[in-house]
Amino acid sequence: MYKDKPFELSNSSGHISLDFINTANFHGHVNHQEWLQSELDVIEWANFIGLSVESNTRSTLSLTELIQLREAMYRITFHAVNQTIADKEDMRVLNKWIKKAQEQVEILLRQDGVFSKQLTMSDGLTKVAFTVVLSFSELIMSDLFQKVKQCNSDRCEWFFIDHTKNKSKQWCTMKICGNREKAKRFYQSSRKEKGRI
Ligand SMILES: [Zn+2]
Repeated sequence: MYKDKPFELSNSSGHISLDFINTANFHGHVNHQEWLQSELDVIEWANFIGLSVESNTRSTLSLTELIQLREAMYRITFHAVNQTIADKEDMRVLNKWIKKAQEQVEILLRQDGVFSKQLTMSDGLTKVAFTVVLSFSELIMSDLFQKVKQCNSDRCEWFFIDHTKNKSKQWCTMKICGNREKAKRFYQSSRKEKGRI
């Protein structure tokens, strides 16, 4: 566990854009938990998920702007999971970012004849924003988006992709939420049992 952080980072959602949304918990509520408390935290998160970002370059993007993007992505996903319609303003923010990010995309042809896509800039926070927003745009346009769920624990609202055949995955991770919730349910059912005696 990181000192002064509300929770441990996880990259287990199944998608980089969801991992990014999961850098907070209880979005917009009074008990909002924030992992990205400084620009350095963003660089640390990028390194954690394997995104190469230069930490010594001054970013033209503020942490507040990056968080605003993430919160729009959270609300859009939340509405999709609950089969309700996302706000137009959030869609406007998303599309603004997609346009900006796409201007920086280039396709490279490697020596072995394989094409690869990359961003032409490496400016810290902006690269993170462009990477996650392009990844998010691919996710929401794909069939995979139908499999996105929100953790069933009342102490967590992380998103994840449910790859199980019978759509049975309930918690973001068994290690973090699954074990805690199972223990809670066992405790509650054993109390009920005792109550009957
Ligand atoms: Zn969870």
